[in-house]
Amino acid sequence: MKSDALSYAGFDETHLLEACTFCSKPLGHNSDIFMYRGNTPFCSQECRQEQIENDEARERRWKVSSKKSTEASKKSTTVQTGTLVASN
Ligand SMILES: [Zn+2]
Repeated sequence: MKSDALSYAGFDETHLLEACTFCSKPLGHNSDIFMYRGNTPFCSQECRQEQIENDEARERRWKVSSKKSTEASKKSTTVQTGTLVASN
């Protein structure tokens, strides 16, 4: 498993590391913090796993709907071009 714990630099972490993103349990500087995507802190592997599963489910839905809207805009461009050609 890839380790992404606290190795990410470039984010202002002072306000990001206050509480677990999943269960809102306060995170102390001496307690274990499990990072996800560089800047999302969790109090435990279990909480992080729950969030990962939520994100993956959301991304699957997002990809499906974004593919649909791309096809819809392609279709309307074709219709517009056809109209232009016809009016010439
Ligand atoms: Zn938690």
